[in-house]
Parts: sequence; structure tokens; C-alpha cells
Amino acid sequence: VTHCAGRRLALFGLGGSGLATADALRAGGAEVLCWDDAEPARDRAAAAGHAVADLRAIDWSGIAALVLTPGVPLTHPEPHWSATCARAAGVEILGDVELFCRERAAIAPGAPLVAITGTNGKSTTTALTAHLFRAAGRDVQMGGNIGTAVLALEPPAAGRLHVLEVSSYQIDLAPGLAPTVGMLLNLSPDHIERHGSFENYAAVKERLIERSEWSLVGVDDTASAEIYERAVEREMRLHARHLGPSGRHLPVSVRQDLPTGVSLSGRHMILMRPYDGRERLLGGVDGIATLRGLHNGQNACFAAACADLLGLRGADAHVIQSGLNGFPGLPHRMEEVGRIGNTLFVNDSKATNADSAEKALLSFDRVHWILGGVPKAGGIAALAPLFDRVQRAYLIGEAADDFARTLSGRVLSRRCGTLEKAVAAAAEDARQASGNQTVLFSPACASFDQFTNFEARGDAFRALVAALQT
Ligand code: ADP
Repeated sequence: VTHCAGRRLALFGLGGSGLATADALRAGGAEVLCWDDAEPARDRAAAAGHAVADLRAIDWSGIAALVLTPGVPLTHPEPHWSATCARAAGVEILGDVELFCRERAAIAPGAPLVAITGTNGKSTTTALTAHLFRAAGRDVQMGGNIGTAVLALEPPAAGRLHVLEVSSYQIDLAPGLAPTVGMLLNLSPDHIERHGSFENYAAVKERLIERSEWSLVGVDDTASAEIYERAVEREMRLHARHLGPSGRHLPVSVRQDLPTGVSLSGRHMILMRPYDGRERLLGGVDGIATLRGLHNGQNACFAAACADLLGLRGADAHVIQSGLNGFPGLPHRMEEVGRIGNTLFVNDSKATNADSAEKALLSFDRVHWILGGVPKAGGIAALAPLFDRVQRAYLIGEAADDFARTLSGRVLSRRCGTLEKAVAAAAEDARQASGNQTVLFSPACASFDQFTNFEARGDAFRALVAALQT
């Protein structure tokens, strides 16, 4: 980051993205005073040569900005203490995405930028969008809330596309985020603890859409549909006053055929472009194992429409389709990790709640379902309509008693205790059944009773399946 050269900044939060931000600022000639409440994080920063200073005790008068990690609450329930210090001194507060945007404005203002947000599907859509452009030979940098911190990516440059996953926290801290294409996938009540209310959470996401040159907005849930309607109304008013083009906001639906925008018809994606009235087939997702399920149809509609908007058509009309076909998928999200005889093994460890597990149950037949861990409120009661897809359930972790009660009388369930026992039992039952079977690890629970995180849990499942194969 070169636009802060010669300035002094304060930085709170020394996790992965905080450290990357401190590195980038210093490399660009800024002075950074950093702090984290956790001592090991401070020690890591000091070892990397950063100036660690208690931000409660510094002289704020010479500070140009406070860079706040998106991991701490800015507005709710209480402002973070470092934000209070900054406000008292009249110092602006921003996040790493804002620094990235200012850098882009300074060194490569026209460089294409895609920002993706929503309650669910952000990572998949971000990875798929980046993949489509890469598959077409474009220079692509992907990161933000997924994988690499935004300031650890290669800097913006003409002809280089940045595809960023942005959480609502990051949008909150990036008033200058005005992407070429902004996507709002969907909204459901989640993350409310940070923003105070669902209205606040939705308003943060709406700001991204307002500021996007082009936008793609999912209209299959009410809150997102309202954001789309308001964006179009605003645009029409401006257009009527000759203040801008119309047709920049495109709705996306997998539940209805839209007169304009992107729809999933069968398993084919169709784009009706509002700005020039042309219709385009964006490709199909039928038979693509990494894009199973209606939710992935939604993710694919967004990625493919973005590819079209940013000119990924070229001489070859099949460029998007071949990109979709080659999408490797993300680990731990309905990831096929092996096949033994008649049985497919699927790692869906990312499914930490019933909503996510529902997507997986809808996507496979003759399921031997391994689930459990630390249950969420409501457990798996909401999944009852899907229980007839389940041959047997194998319960692990703390949720076992609770889930056994919910399943009782509807699905045969076995208490296995550990994932290891569950995999062995499910694999054996599936082997003895006739026809194709799926052993699905979609826990509908948090992992921390038995694992460090959902990644470690999915890795354990993958290793157990690999051991069965040898
Ligand atoms: P995020 O990055 O927003 O957490 P991911 O792409 O990692 O989303 O997907 C996480 C889970 O959310 C998936 O395992 C799936 O159950 C669910 N999911 C994915 N895409 C969608 C979608 N478009 N709509 C609803 N749920 C989805």
C-alpha cells in the first residue's frame, strides 16, 4: 500500500489479516503502531518487526487513521475501545478493504473489482467467479474474507481482476468500496449480534449495492428483493434526471423465471440483459458434481452473470460452460472424498447448522447420515420432512441424545460416539445395501466438542475414508 507513505497509522487486531495489513502498510512506507489484546498476537507482530504500542497510551494527534480488524465489533453492542479512542481524537476508522480501495483509486482506478457478499454461499461464489476468469486465461487475484487477506494479494493493476469476498463487517469499515460488480447473494437473519438488528445488517449490505457500478442481487428472499427494488427505483429517478444509465442492477432468481436478470430454468442459466434487451444462455449446471443443489445453482448464476458482465464471452461461446465444468469445488462443502464400490463418501463438515445440512440432504439419495457435535438451537427438528431420504443416522458428539430423540420413530439411528466409529459403521451398512449409497458427513453442529474447527473435522473424515480405501 503506497498511498499511506510517510503517514502514521494505528492498527488494532493482529490476526492474519491484521498482520498482512501491517506488513503492507510498512512496506509502502507508512509507520504503524499496532496492538492486540492477546499477548501471543502482539509477540508475533513484534517478532515480525512491527511497532507494538498500547493504543490507550499513545498520542493520537499524529495518527492519520485507525485500521480496525473486521473481527471486532465497531458499532454493537459497544464500540470497541480503540474505536472510542480514535473517535475522541477525531481520527477516521477504516478496514483493510478500504485501504485496498484507496490504493486502487490511487494506482489503477479502472482496474476491475468484484465484491461478493450475502449470508450464505459467499466463499463458493467467490471461488467460482475467480475460477471462471482464471479458466479463461485472465489475471485474477482472489481473497478478502476467503483465503488470502486483501492486502496480501498482488496490487490492483490495469487488466488484473480482483474478486473479493466481503463480510458485512468489512463493508462497514469500507465506505469507499465501489466495485465494478457488487453481488448480494441472499440475506437471512444471522450475524445479528454484531449489527444490533437484522435491519442494520441488511442496511450494510445495501450500501454495497448502491455503490456498485453493476450489481447482481438475489431476489428469492424478501430482504434482498426489497434491496433490489429500492436500487432500481433510485436508478430510475436518477436516469429520469439524466444522471446515469439504467439497467445496472440485475436480479437473480433460482425460483422464478424473471423478465430481466438471471434465472435458473431447469438447470440452465439464462440472462436477460436489462440494459440492451439481449438474452443469453450462460450455460448449465446439470451433472456438475461440485455444483449440486439449488443453492449452488444460485451461486453459479451469480458467477456466470458476472463473467458475462465483465466481458467473458470472447470468440468461444462455451468459455463460461467449460469453466463451470472444471470447477474443483471448495473443501468441506459437499466435497466428494472417495468412492468405494457402491458408496460415495461426501465431506460436508462446513454444515454447522440445520440449514446447511438441509442443502446436503436435498442433494443426495440413499443417505447414511453422520451427524452431531455441539448442537445449535432448534437442533435438527426442522429437517424432519427430509428424514425419508435417510437410510440410517450415525450420531457423534454432544448432540447424540438430543438428535436421537428427534429421529426416534422416524429414522434408525445409532450412537457412535466418535467420528471414527461412525464412519466404520456407515461404510459397512452402505456396503451391504444394494444400489448406489451415499455416506454423508453433514454434522448440523459446531465442531468444538471433538475438533478444533470444521476444517480439522472435515480433514479427519477425509483421512478415515482414505484409510478405508487402502
Ligand atoms: P459462506 O462463505 O457465505 O459461509 P459457503 O460458500 O462457504 O458460504 O457455503 C457454506 C454453506 O452454506 C454451504 O455448505 C451450504 O450449505 C450453504 N450455501 C451455499 N451456498 C448457498 C446459497 N446460495 N444459498 C443458501 N445456502 C447456501
